[in-house]
Amino acid sequence: MVTKLFDLSGKTALVTGSSRGLGRAMAEGLAAAGAAIVLNGSDEERLAKAVAEMESAGYTVRASRFDVTDEKAIFEAFDVLDGQGTAIDILVNNAGIQFRRPMLELDTADWRRVVDTNLTSAFIIGREAARRMAQRGYGKIINIGSLTSELARATVAPYTVAKGGIKMLTKAMAAEWSELGIQANAIGPGYMLTDMNQALIDNPTFDAWVKGRTPARRWGRPDELAGTCVYLASAASDYVSGQIIYVDGGMISVL
Ligand code: NDP
Repeated sequence: MVTKLFDLSGKTALVTGSSRGLGRAMAEGLAAAGAAIVLNGSDEERLAKAVAEMESAGYTVRASRFDVTDEKAIFEAFDVLDGQGTAIDILVNNAGIQFRRPMLELDTADWRRVVDTNLTSAFIIGREAARRMAQRGYGKIINIGSLTSELARATVAPYTVAKGGIKMLTKAMAAEWSELGIQANAIGPGYMLTDMNQALIDNPTFDAWVKGRTPARRWGRPDELAGTCVYLASAASDYVSGQIIYVDGGMISVL
């Protein structure tokens, strides 16, 4: 019998990069569906503010501050969660950065920084979460890709490579971990109204390009990712595995 498809009561979700932007909106969506939330970011003050705001909205939330590119810090964060008896049922690998520079002018260090933050972190945090989820035979992993999981765009080569990698990492996770009771899927957001895009939002030419090329004729709001995230975290998607769902106002269909 199908009941309470989207109920996340009793589940705990770790959302990386959730002090603001899309991660914060997805954390709020998961919390509204009943999950306890572990918020993450690298900036202490921003994270504390996000925790306080979500607590005052009545959600069960705590902070786990670590830099997603620091493997030792990731191990320590999971050790702390283990010590608290906190099992992560849902992991959203969302933390990411963008860096715009043509490849001919791109330093190797900047390439590595973007790939480490957007892709390698999802492998390391995914592996640490999955080792624990496997012991309980249950887990949901949601990796955040992008339109650039499908399309190359000029000046963002390492970002494009990382997000293309997210799509295939998700399929690799599904291939290896489904039999352990762990599902992995991805979300590919379109052009969304967040800090990451502020310079583009403020640029009238780019703003007009986004509105002209998106069938919905507008940028996406962060809260518009929450429903897809809740779906992929919930029993409603229990036989969905290795997929990437684009939440992009239709852009991927026409670009
Ligand atoms: P924002 O820049 O608004 O927020 C990024 C979040 O990630 C912040 O909470 C930030 O925390 C955190 N973060 C960044 N680097 C690290 C790090 N090294 N360790 C821990 N946390 C980190 O980005 P968005 O919300 O726009 O993007 C979220 C995700 O969605 C990214 O993966 C992005 O690539 C993807 N995406 C975004 C799109 C968009 O249009 N906005 C489109 C497609 C994909 P802190 O400030 O504390 O470091």
